[in-house]
Amino acid sequence: MSKTTIFGKILDSEIPCHRVFEDEYVLAFLDVNPLSPGHTLVIPKERVAHLHELSDAQGAAIGRVLPRIARAILAATGAAEYNLLQNNGPGAHQAVFHVHFHIIPKLGDRGLGVGWDSSSLEASEAESLLTKIRAGL
Ligand code: 5GP
Repeated sequence: MSKTTIFGKILDSEIPCHRVFEDEYVLAFLDVNPLSPGHTLVIPKERVAHLHELSDAQGAAIGRVLPRIARAILAATGAAEYNLLQNNGPGAHQAVFHVHFHIIPKLGDRGLGVGWDSSSLEASEAESLLTKIRAGL
């Protein structure tokens, strides 16, 4: 990633954040415009825009701490339900081009609203997709 993002500036302590958690690979902080109380962003210290660009090591480091941070947020807010959201690309609602996971507690009406315009998976389409996806793994 060539341009410094707002999250890069937070990592560099150029702008402040309400820090929830930090280790060698990961920083978590409260979202400045929360959808619900406790809405938290979890970011890798590696500066890439999209999840698929993240190294396996950084991906593993985030995966290792997400459940622990989620448990702490649930305990702190009293929420029993929450969404994990991770946007990639402007068309997919990404606004800050540094990988981040949202942890968004569901508290009554507050939290993430989800549109889910699904269709049926056709067997022929599934087979064609599987062939192509497996070739990329
Ligand atoms: P995206 O749409 O890219 O998945 O979400 C970006 C998120 O970053 C938004 O929820 C927005 O409120 C949050 N955000 C943007 N700028 C800042 C900031 O300077 N500090 C914090 N804590 N959150 C920010």
